[in-house]
Amino acid sequence: MVQAQNPQHAVALPAVDRVLRLPAVQALVAQYGHTTVVHVVRALLSDMRQEILDGAELPAEATCEPALARGIRQRLDTTMQPSLRRVFNLTGTVLHTNLGRAPLPDEAVAAVQAAMVQPCNLEYDLDRGGRGDRDVHVEALLCKLTGAEAAIVVNNNAAAVLLTLNTLALRKEVIVSRSELIEIGGSFRMPEIMARAGCRLHEVGTTNCTHLADFEKAINGRTSMLFKVHASNFAIVGFTAGVSEEELGVLAHSHGLAFGVDLGSGTLVDLGLHDLPHEPTPQDSLNSGADLVTFSGDKLLGGPQCGIIVGRTELVARIKRNHLRRALRVDKMTVAALEAVLRLYRQPETLVQRLPVLRLLTRPLDDIDRLCKRVAPAVARAVASAAEVGIVPCDSQIGSGALPLERLPSQALALTPLKRGRGEGAALKRLAEAFRALPVPVIGAVSEGALRFDLRCLENEREFVEQLGQLRLGGGGVET
Ligand SMILES: *Cc1c(COP(=O)(O)O)cnc(C)c1O
Repeated sequence: MVQAQNPQHAVALPAVDRVLRLPAVQALVAQYGHTTVVHVVRALLSDMRQEILDGAELPAEATCEPALARGIRQRLDTTMQPSLRRVFNLTGTVLHTNLGRAPLPDEAVAAVQAAMVQPCNLEYDLDRGGRGDRDVHVEALLCKLTGAEAAIVVNNNAAAVLLTLNTLALRKEVIVSRSELIEIGGSFRMPEIMARAGCRLHEVGTTNCTHLADFEKAINGRTSMLFKVHASNFAIVGFTAGVSEEELGVLAHSHGLAFGVDLGSGTLVDLGLHDLPHEPTPQDSLNSGADLVTFSGDKLLGGPQCGIIVGRTELVARIKRNHLRRALRVDKMTVAALEAVLRLYRQPETLVQRLPVLRLLTRPLDDIDRLCKRVAPAVARAVASAAEVGIVPCDSQIGSGALPLERLPSQALALTPLKRGRGEGAALKRLAEAFRALPVPVIGAVSEGALRFDLRCLENEREFVEQLGQLRLGGGGVET
């Protein structure tokens, strides 16, 4: 045991009851409830007692009532803070998987809210007055938008691939090019998904070149499907050869096999129309002869997390009958959000303005530039003791595996620490930490010795600027 050095100070700490009777603390009880406040007061006093026993003087706030109440409020704010919080995504990656991918449009938020607070006809047929199917709310829309015969929605695209393979290729072979055995974000690896789906992966070709003859030679009595995976997050350049969807479709069908495509980021519109680089669409794959196409709901589509399977009626019907579907199905909030987002696609005239993903991706450069010029002075004032602020050109990326090589010209605030040489890295780290500690954390990217905020995705300018007053740069700022 450590010998108590100032036990008399520990005795001088106020009792929990007395603290609770303070008017300022009573106000906190009204706001947060008795149990929580008692808990926090006990923890605060216990920490003070420990500090005293460790040799510290009686802390000033122990005897100053307003300071004591402030300390309790600060602890309550931290304790009561939700774990899942809004942030400003100024990383330059529009669809950032770690930051929740696509922001949803107001229409989706309203639909989700309505479905949450009241019962809804999720699986109830209002015409016949009996059990229905949760896919009906989005299936017709998906068919209209993609030209598919049928559709089904599951938890995410990984689930869509798993369910497709498990339904069509259980204990059979699936032929895939070696150049497409991809990994997405660590936890989605094509060979592992194949194994989990219960099918045997039959690899053909080489890393850079795969020919139609490779597929042809590999087909045998155990083959169930040919599968093409969109190279989402990388590109193979140089001496390469691949097999087109048309060729694979013809080959599969001439052998009575199914042809599936995992598209990953499935946009439903021709991005070229909006001056963005072209990304293949599910309708392209279906037109080329794919029987089934899988893609994510929260990538370029701009909706909630889900995985969408579109394709031939008979195959989709088999997928719907798979018992695994029950474990992978979406909830009513996802159905509500997805339906609302798909409806926006039915009004192409207003889509770019109403769908946040498209709005952000097509945001004009001079709009971003003006925004930078407006907010730079406020950021410069907030960090004046620690960094200087400049406006620099940068490139935003789409993210989530869509068009990995394409860059969208954008503009960023570059915060460069005043401290140069030794300690510069630590100063940069402190700067980034301070912005992450704001009430709505601001997430940037460190590059070339600066903390950069790409403002492409900053839409709530006022909230961003207003909270800058709360930036705490710690001890890092004023060293010389
Ligand atoms: C993103 C992606 C996946 C995984 O999709 P999730 O919706 O994240 O599960 C699978 N395949 C491809 C080609 C992808 O791009």
